[in-house]
Amino acid sequence: MKNADALWRDLVHRFAKQSRCQSRQVGAILVKDSRLLAEGWNSPPRGSKAQDCPRCLSGPKPGKGLEFAICCHAEANAIANAAYSGVDLKEATIYCTTYPCAECAKLICGAGIIEVVYDHTYPSHLTDLIFESANITSRRFKDVDHDQTQNQRCN
Ligand SMILES: [Zn+2]
Ligand SMILES: [Zn+2]
Repeated sequence: MKNADALWRDLVHRFAKQSRCQSRQVGAILVKDSRLLAEGWNSPPRGSKAQDCPRCLSGPKPGKGLEFAICCHAEANAIANAAYSGVDLKEATIYCTTYPCAECAKLICGAGIIEVVYDHTYPSHLTDLIFESANITSRRFKDVDHDQTQNQRCN
């Protein structure tokens, strides 16, 4: 696959835009052997009749109004969507718009995912610790412009 990072980066940002949250739109996709296995964005979970999360509609501030949050993080939704479809995530890669929080890192670890690729950084020492303890590698998307330049040179 030509410049896989650029493709998955583009795709995960498109899924993030599906989120109806007023403050933050996050996406996650699960990939194995260059195939898309499942996708997720921050929203109420699949089985919920609620289209919107009351907290997400209110333009929430970080850490505030969590008692009204019925949404799941994008990474959790992607993993739950895979379970819904009976898809095995062992040795899969998760591509995320943002570095995962510790709760999602625990799910990533438990699901057997071995690699995390993200765009925006997010400081979480606990996430670092969980990934290190499980030999899960994490990195940012490779420089997309740089890769495109290389491809042009080959043509
Ligand atoms: Zn919400
Ligand atoms: Zn999370």
